[in-house]
Amino acid sequence: MTDLERKHDRTPVPKEWAYAPAPESRDVVSLDERYGHYVGGKWLEPSETYTTISPATEEPLAEVGQATPEEVEAAVAAARDAFENGWSGISAAERAKYLFRIARILQERSREFAVLESLNGGKPIKESRDVDLPLAAAHFFYYAGWADKLEYAFPNRRPRPVGVAGQIIPWNFPLLMLSWKIAPALAAGNTVVLKPAETTPLSALLFADVLRQAELPPGVVNIVTGDGRTGAALVKSEDVDKIAFTGSTDVGKAIQRELAGTGKKLTLELGGKAANIIFDDAALDQAVEGIVNGIYFNQGHVCCAGSRLLVQESIYEPVVEKLKRRLTTLRVGDPLDKNTDVGAINSEQQLEKIRELVESGEQEGAEIYQPPCRLPEKGYWFVPTVFTNVAQSYRIAQEEIFGPVLSVLTFRTPEEAVEKANNTPYGLSAGVWTEKGSRILWMAERLRAGVVWANTFNRFDPSSPFGGYKESGFGREGGRHGLEPYLRFDNEPSHD
Ligand code: NAP
Ligand code: MG
Repeated sequence: MTDLERKHDRTPVPKEWAYAPAPESRDVVSLDERYGHYVGGKWLEPSETYTTISPATEEPLAEVGQATPEEVEAAVAAARDAFENGWSGISAAERAKYLFRIARILQERSREFAVLESLNGGKPIKESRDVDLPLAAAHFFYYAGWADKLEYAFPNRRPRPVGVAGQIIPWNFPLLMLSWKIAPALAAGNTVVLKPAETTPLSALLFADVLRQAELPPGVVNIVTGDGRTGAALVKSEDVDKIAFTGSTDVGKAIQRELAGTGKKLTLELGGKAANIIFDDAALDQAVEGIVNGIYFNQGHVCCAGSRLLVQESIYEPVVEKLKRRLTTLRVGDPLDKNTDVGAINSEQQLEKIRELVESGEQEGAEIYQPPCRLPEKGYWFVPTVFTNVAQSYRIAQEEIFGPVLSVLTFRTPEEAVEKANNTPYGLSAGVWTEKGSRILWMAERLRAGVVWANTFNRFDPSSPFGGYKESGFGREGGRHGLEPYLRFDNEPSHD
């Protein structure tokens, strides 16, 4: 083989040259056999329980509570009591102190939380360690800073807390979504009842121990676990003043119907089908990394994932070739292995949904590519997948797959890129790759998406508001905007 041939040789790396396993130790996490609900600063013995598992091995991890409507009411009552008798009356600087403490403790215990997050949710430790945990702590730090500056954030509007916030979060970023919800709520002076997703309750339950360490007054944060029925009971509870929901568009719509006319405040962060748009003047190798990060990060379980790739026709072939080659180097497997790029699918139910949509893509006529990949025998797995020859009407181009599956489409002109990018019921995020600053601004003005990334993708910062248009929901999380849903202002009706 000549040097040139060697340089272009694309045969997969021989097995013996592959990375040796580098598993993170599980010892740092100690799990109870059984967890109750965290209500009024105490553990409430649950009347019903279910088993939470590791999706990578199907191994049972712990028994957790399935909160009944009565148990949800107990949590709401504890939150109300804490709100009326203490929390809303203490000084803002004092509230900030607790938020700073929580942020510090999350940093100190970040390894423990990262391992638990990967164990219960299936995401690679590399991501929970380097993304979820630092961002969760950063969120508490950020909102701690706002707590005593609300009058400056909203001048002449006399901001007041809303009261009791009911918060329902999904399984894709369990601790991070908890932070997005709890940090602004507390900074604004509210108390909280939070329901984590059925499949990923453990980091929220460990967070209760952070609250104990931070000496947060009892009842300020309450955590009830359970499935959708528990979430529905929280939405129905009469004594909740605000609901914050992140999850599917269908459930979001049902919640909106339920709350219509009650005067309760509502924010919805729902699904997405983001376009990641590559122009022919983009730095292609960086763009390919951005495409990979856009759709295979967190197994594609990301509401703002770049699941529709729009490539300018003139560079279609090199982009797809580079992308396929890059896919052969992704390491799929044990979430606790530090080398792993793509971990386990979060649940059997989600795996079924991905399979069904991928099958529809093949039936409708798209061309599928999956790199050679050996998957573990137990657990829930899906090979990173690329579809080419995708028409805009195909389900894989319209519906949120929420898995490691990319649909590739092409365009010729910037106008066509905008039209195709906006041709979706969603509007959460988009990506633009081009060398031209003017084109970035031109595109950003026209894309109907809450977040537009330029020459990057899936970047988050607590100071930057995040949220959607159209069926991706309403309301913003993060930044000063993220405080607003947790505040009432003069001349604004309250629900009672
Ligand atoms: P989901 O059912 O909407 O779950 C979100 C949260 O709402 C979970 O805590 C869920 O509990 C709870 N919930 C379910 N039904 C409820 C109800 N009637 N009233 C109040 N709360 C309720 O979403 P999923 O079933 O986990 O996933 C389904 C699809 O949603 C995914 O395939 C994906 O397309 C989308 N999704 C989007 C996001 C996002 O970040 N925007 C996140 C997750 C999922 P359970 O955990 O028990 O269901
Ligand atoms: Mg569900």
